Amino acid sequence: MTPIKARNYINGEWISSENNFESLNPADSREIIGTAPISGLAEVNQAVAAAKKGYESWRELSWIKRAEYIDTFAQLMKRDIPDLAELITRECGKPINEGRADAVEALHMAQYMAGIGRIPNGYTISSEIAAKDAFILRKPKGVIACITPWNFPSAIPLWVILPSILAGNTVVFKPAEQTPIVGHKLMELFHEAGFPAGVINLVHGTGEECGDPLVKHKDVAGILFTGSRAVGKYVQQVAAGDAYKFVATEMGGKNATIILEDADLDIAVNACVLGGFKTSGQRCVSTSRIIIDRKVEAEFTQRFIEKVKRIKVGNGMNEDVFMGPLIEASGLEKWKLHRAKAIEEGAEVLLDGEVLTGGDYDYGNFVSPFVYRMEYRPDTFCLREEAFSPHVAIIPVDGMEQAVEVYNDTDYGLSMAVITEDYRKWRWVRDHADYGLGYVNLPSIGAEVHLPFGGVKASGNGHPGAEGILETVTHRIAFTVNHAKEIVMAQGLTTNV
Ligand code: NAD
Repeated sequence: MTPIKARNYINGEWISSENNFESLNPADSREIIGTAPISGLAEVNQAVAAAKKGYESWRELSWIKRAEYIDTFAQLMKRDIPDLAELITRECGKPINEGRADAVEALHMAQYMAGIGRIPNGYTISSEIAAKDAFILRKPKGVIACITPWNFPSAIPLWVILPSILAGNTVVFKPAEQTPIVGHKLMELFHEAGFPAGVINLVHGTGEECGDPLVKHKDVAGILFTGSRAVGKYVQQVAAGDAYKFVATEMGGKNATIILEDADLDIAVNACVLGGFKTSGQRCVSTSRIIIDRKVEAEFTQRFIEKVKRIKVGNGMNEDVFMGPLIEASGLEKWKLHRAKAIEEGAEVLLDGEVLTGGDYDYGNFVSPFVYRMEYRPDTFCLREEAFSPHVAIIPVDGMEQAVEVYNDTDYGLSMAVITEDYRKWRWVRDHADYGLGYVNLPSIGAEVHLPFGGVKASGNGHPGAEGILETVTHRIAFTVNHAKEIVMAQGLTTNV
């Protein structure tokens, strides 16, 4: 495929740059997917100014009119799903069935938001005084910065951009520097859908050069950030410097699948294979800990390892590949660090993942799954820190209560799955584990756009994505109207002087 020349998109115009960076296929570094501008403060200033200007007229449209633009966009996305799926796989490395799922999830978000435009966006509520009507309404906040990661390069941007614009905000979108061409493709579709100038603007570049000035810009009302905990925490600190600026941070996880003694082990094995190794463990919700009742550990482990050994690693354009490459060399280094730390901390290695070399493997960061057993100890690096790679610990425990105690012993709280046939047990786990996304007899992965997506503790700051974002990008305002000829106040105040 010919490399695609991505450009910034500001005030309805495509803007080229002399300075560009390359986006390579992580499964085959010989293939250049495209190039994109290296942007900084100047481009960010232009994009924010365009969004600020675009806000004046965009906010005047009805929710339904704005939803109609999103509906047009959804139809264009539907047309382009196969192309988008292939581009996602070639640019971020995940197998083609996952590339398709990413694109379809993005489409679902567009369809959902197009429909949401026609449901009530506020309500009437009774006043204490009969002659008054009170309303609770949603109003947009202004210019929103959408900063997104590489691992869901179409779904996550749409989770945050679409609710923002539906509510009347305008957006500056900075996609991850690992997947600029998918960002460019989304912008082409927005352009084709005919959104007015300034409503959605796109600037490419690194976090430090482009993301940082965007976060700090005085005319940015809010930031919707999805990415690592370290950067998310930094973004929160920057936003705290401006009292008016709100921030939603969706960050990492140290997720687990809890397998209780009565679990159906077929479900348990499949849930852990999906949760542990889809996207090569590079999902925020990947299972990196399997917390299992000692009574069923031996049988589960034997069946799980047997299945994991069959995982095919390679270029995700081949339909039979289950695990693609790690996104970049730093991901490989992270995987190596976590593996070395686990061994140093006493892991009993069950599958010694290796760096794969030879043939096509020489052109990507390919590794095989690393699986180990470890008795629980507090304060271990490997059982508490996000590995974001195919790195899975099996931790035996005695019973449900200890399982949840071990589960909760990390700073994170994103996704938790429990495998059990007992409704009393899953209910107890539901109420005592710390997470934003919970599953029973399912893997720890599996978002749907009409559900809130987010975590607790260090995984998020309580503003979940997808369904949840409309709350975040709108002010809920109270508006009271008096229909009487005199003023009658609540709580007995009078006009007597
Ligand atoms: P990252 O934090 O390195 O980058 C995310 C985005 O932030 C990128 O666009 C990047 O350019 C930008 N950025 C980096 N430094 C910045 C700065 N100083 N100022 C402003 N922006 C900056 O994350 P990543 O490597 O792209 O993604 C992996 C991480 O994302 C993992 O920790 C994963 O768990 C997390 N993640 C979380 C969710 C969720 O919804 N909770 C979803 C996907 C990924």
